[in-house]
Amino acid sequence: MAFEGLTERLQKAMTNLRRKGKVSESDLRDTMREIRLALLEADVNFTVVKDFVKTVRERALGAKVLEGLNPAQQIVKIVNEELTKTMGEKAVPLNKSDKIPTVIMMAGLQGAGKTTTVGKLALKLKNEENARPLMIAADVYRPAAIQQLQQVGEQIDVPVFQMGTDVDPVEIVRQGMAEAKANHNDYVFIDTAGRLQIDEQLMDELANIKDLVHPDEILLVIDAMTGQNAVNTAEGFDQRLDVNGVVLTKLDGDTRGGAALSIRAVTGKPIKFVGQGEKMTDLDVFHPDRMADRILG
Ligand code: GDP
Repeated sequence: MAFEGLTERLQKAMTNLRRKGKVSESDLRDTMREIRLALLEADVNFTVVKDFVKTVRERALGAKVLEGLNPAQQIVKIVNEELTKTMGEKAVPLNKSDKIPTVIMMAGLQGAGKTTTVGKLALKLKNEENARPLMIAADVYRPAAIQQLQQVGEQIDVPVFQMGTDVDPVEIVRQGMAEAKANHNDYVFIDTAGRLQIDEQLMDELANIKDLVHPDEILLVIDAMTGQNAVNTAEGFDQRLDVNGVVLTKLDGDTRGGAALSIRAVTGKPIKFVGQGEKMTDLDVFHPDRMADRILG
């Protein structure tokens, strides 16, 4: 379950505060210290934690919360609002093109969950909009990758365009786009290659694909379980590709939650979806307010 430790620690901090009835400035300071430690332990980016704690403290003092009725409750409310703000306030929808197809390019490190997420998102659009997506297999470095996308395609009944592993990915994408236009597919997903870590060759290839198709949406797929590395990876990809949004996968296995709480604040890019399991239906729109409620328990 995501955020286990964070939820427990925040609840403890809030319970301690509630017990006080009247809250002094020094009580507030103690609470903020507990919140700070809880966030750091959840692997939230240091600067994000610093800004968060500062804002909550300033708001609590500025609104004279401590002198009012029920200061603890007011502080919980401020913490909730600031958590929501840190994660981006509102859900951000996919960009869609005025004319079909809408092109969605996926990028991310190997194993982050790109191929799985392509399938999940294609299924979601199929179910919700009766969409007719085409998935392009542009990962030519891992032979199993094409096969894996084909398996996903069979599972959700969505066609896959592939040209094997001997063709340049940019050429595969060019021909895949032509196929999508000929078939009037309304969405095209491009499943790109990943590497174990960011490298120049990969970034060049992704940039070339981007230049060719000008995707409506570049989604960066990031593994939540990698914590601060997830945030660094997101920054690295974004600097080079200027992505539109992030899909945070494996939130179901992420007991800490640092990536979910840091990515938006660090990169400025919204988390659009979260992966919460291995099944094709385990993909949800990311709602910062609901996530804040969940974190506070
Ligand atoms: P790719 O290399 O980026 O294409 O990654 P894959 O799509 O092959 O995913 C790597 C592994 O992560 C697979 O075993 C997936 O089933 C698993 N996976 C992907 N997304 C999620 C998720 O949201 N939750 C969990 N628990 N597993 C996931």
